[in-house]
Formats: sequence, structure tokens, C-alpha cells
Amino acid sequence: MNAMGCNLIEKAGSYLDGAMNSAERQTFDAHLTTCLECSAEVARIERLSRFIASAEMPAPENLVMKFRMRKNNQKRLVRMATILTGAAAAVLIVTTLSMILHPSDSTPASMSWQTVAVSQQIDASSQSDPDDPIAQLLLQERP
Ligand SMILES: [Zn+2]
Repeated sequence: MNAMGCNLIEKAGSYLDGAMNSAERQTFDAHLTTCLECSAEVARIERLSRFIASAEMPAPENLVMKFRMRKNNQKRLVRMATILTGAAAAVLIVTTLSMILHPSDSTPASMSWQTVAVSQQIDASSQSDPDDPIAQLLLQERP
């Protein structure tokens, strides 16, 4: 073990986590046979993780609980999204069905909505409302 420390020792964690690709893993495997420091670190982490896994420690359990709660929250969100999507689909189906079943009812309604929108647009541009500041501006800028 040299005094400077091996600069590959930080890879021990990812080596054990399986976060390495096979090439990296092979390189580190080869390194472990020659480097006492890294092989000791790997052994130490393995011992530590075995200890955490076997020991009933309050802190990791709290973490597990928190993680489970977060997962439950995520599940709730997903459920809510599913319900909302279902509701949207239901509205769409009902709307489509009512249009299919009562075409005479729905078509005039949508036509009148369009007529109102268009007529309001025409009103805004053609008529000059004295209380409308935009209309007043337009009137002022007129030659
Ligand atoms: Zn090393």
C-alpha cells in the first residue's frame, strides 16, 4: 500500500454496484489482483453492505420507509392521472355519442358559439366604443 493511495480506489463502489460495463469490470478485476489497497476496499465495502443488510439499524429502515412513502405518493399520482385520463376519455365519449345521437342538437350549438365569437370580433374592430381605451387610441391616431 503506497502513501499516495491508489487513484482507482474510488471505482470500488461502482464495481460492487454493478455500475461498470464489462470492459471496465475486467480492467478493475485485473487491477484487484495486483492492488492490495483496492482489493481491501472492495472487501471492506462488501463487509459493510453485508453488515447493513443483516443488522437492524433504525436509520436505513427510516430511509426504506421514506422511500416506500415516496413510491406510494408516486403511485397515488399515477392513479390520479389515470382517473383524470379516464374522466377526459369519458367526456370525449359522451360528447361524441351526443353528437352522433343528437346531431341536430349539437350542431346549432357549436354554430352559435362560432357566430358569437366572429360577431364579437367584428364589433371590436368596426364599432368605436367611447369607453374603450383602445378604441379611443385608434380614433386619435386616425388622420
Ligand atoms: Zn488500486
